[in-house]
Amino acid sequence: MASSKSKPSKPRRARPRSLPRGLALRALGGRIRPVALAGAAIAATFGAGAIFGFVYRHEPERPPAQVATVRPAPVRPTAPRIETPPVEPPRLSAPAEAVPPEPPQPAPAAKPVPAPAILAAVLPPPLAPAVPPAQVTPGAPAWLKNALPFTAPHSGPMIAIVIDDMGLDRKRSARVVGLPGPLTLAWLPYANDLPRQTRAARAAGHELMVHIPMEPQGGDIDPGPGAMTVSAGSGELLRRLDQGLKAFDGYIGVNNHMGSRFTEDRPGMRTVLSELHRRGLMFLDSRTTTRSVASSVARELQVPTVGRDVFLDHDMSPAAVRASLAKVEAVARRQGYAVAIGHPHDATVDALAQWLPAVAARGFALVPVSTVLKHRQPNG
Ligand SMILES: [Zn+2]
Repeated sequence: MASSKSKPSKPRRARPRSLPRGLALRALGGRIRPVALAGAAIAATFGAGAIFGFVYRHEPERPPAQVATVRPAPVRPTAPRIETPPVEPPRLSAPAEAVPPEPPQPAPAAKPVPAPAILAAVLPPPLAPAVPPAQVTPGAPAWLKNALPFTAPHSGPMIAIVIDDMGLDRKRSARVVGLPGPLTLAWLPYANDLPRQTRAARAAGHELMVHIPMEPQGGDIDPGPGAMTVSAGSGELLRRLDQGLKAFDGYIGVNNHMGSRFTEDRPGMRTVLSELHRRGLMFLDSRTTTRSVASSVARELQVPTVGRDVFLDHDMSPAAVRASLAKVEAVARRQGYAVAIGHPHDATVDALAQWLPAVAARGFALVPVSTVLKHRQPNG
């Protein structure tokens, strides 16, 4: 990691409430206090330890502090979009690949503090699944089941921001999770503690993908363990892919970490994409080579697919990242959507922290990748 600059973290999520905070807390306290006494009795009867266990097992999707403040998102009707088939702009030069950051694993972030047992005793258990079943037809493919329940706020050009290489650098990954969403976060399957890291990301309103390592050009660059390589047979590829896909759940699909060699290999990509098709997953081509066959093989096999339009932080200077974000806006205006990929670098997170809150006011719809796919599906 080139930059070690970091700012003190601060809570970024806006509280969706209209009451002044102190007043709201007093109101909440006033409502809870009488039932809290009943809760205390229950706690005494069944044992606080058992209730603590209940809270811990059943609340991972939602930070306990938000239990009393979460408001259902307004449901907006979506006007059917009529879109021309997306035209992918020609790539004039192959983007170089960044060597994956291999920072030491810092100590895990502190666990979120569970709500007091007393609160769990008086509030209904938050068992609502992350994706309301009503929005997904039975038998829907996994990518749709795991897509963020999301309706674009308006019909302006869509921008999906994907952050790759998530999970290894815990501190910077947590900074990314704290950004306003929805973002789409692609996690390296060999990072530690992924179930917990990814649950926190999903609870914060982001979409999830698996960032499968694939062989790059140039033997001196290591994509990490379990990479898809041209020399591996299909059985071995499927074994490694299965390992990667087991690292956590709730993802819509896969994009490639590196892969400038592997994504040019049609037999290898057929093996990988056939398996993604079998599992109902999508594929985002990171486009680390201009000669990638991923999109054409995916379309052949009817795997929902889209390609990266802009890398945000190929040059990690703050000015370059801001210029890349301007390019993302230009692509979105031209083709109706843009998919950008960045990484958990300080310059990227700083630039996004400024850019994200203002993007809607400039007429763009910030969307998860699944929303781009849903709009592109009719045209393949
Ligand atoms: Zn990567």
